[in-house]
Amino acid sequence: MLKRKLLQHAFKSWFLTEIIKGFAKTLRYFFKKKVTIQYPFEKNPISPRFRGEHALRRYDNGEERCIACKLCEAVCPAQAITIEAEERADGSRRTTRYDIDMTKCIYCGLCQEACPVDAIVQGPNFEFATETHAELIYTKEKLLSNGDRWEPQLAQNLAKDAKFR
Ligand code: SF4
Ligand code: SF4
Repeated sequence: MLKRKLLQHAFKSWFLTEIIKGFAKTLRYFFKKKVTIQYPFEKNPISPRFRGEHALRRYDNGEERCIACKLCEAVCPAQAITIEAEERADGSRRTTRYDIDMTKCIYCGLCQEACPVDAIVQGPNFEFATETHAELIYTKEKLLSNGDRWEPQLAQNLAKDAKFR
């Protein structure tokens, strides 16, 4: 038994079979379709339900969707959302402050689920790394500008998901 094992080992060492096997595998993958991508120049497709950076959306006429009902603030398990609101002259209720501490957020998506008017949403953007904590305290202005920037994609994603909600 031992002799047979020694012979096998010697055969492998003399004829470099492991190296040949390794090269054969490399050669096989060399001609296969590549699965790696050249990020950030290329990106993989992402689901319409992807929970990325938050945004506050507007209606087509530019009016803010958010009615300051505070459901998102109440449902947020991380207590990352802070809202202050007041009544406008026309009797509508709007936020005066809408902050999200993105360093507290756990990207659970509950704020989006709770919102009755599809105002707060999580968009497709996942490239929002910063160098300071302060940059990750999102204000209402920042969230609205995210909404303006991503609206076509956000509306498309919500439409795709509508039949499942
Ligand atoms: S995604 Fe979750 S944790 Fe983040 S703000 Fe919304 S409810 Fe809070
Ligand atoms: S974002 Fe939606 S859930 Fe949150 S306060 Fe505004 S309307 Fe209410």
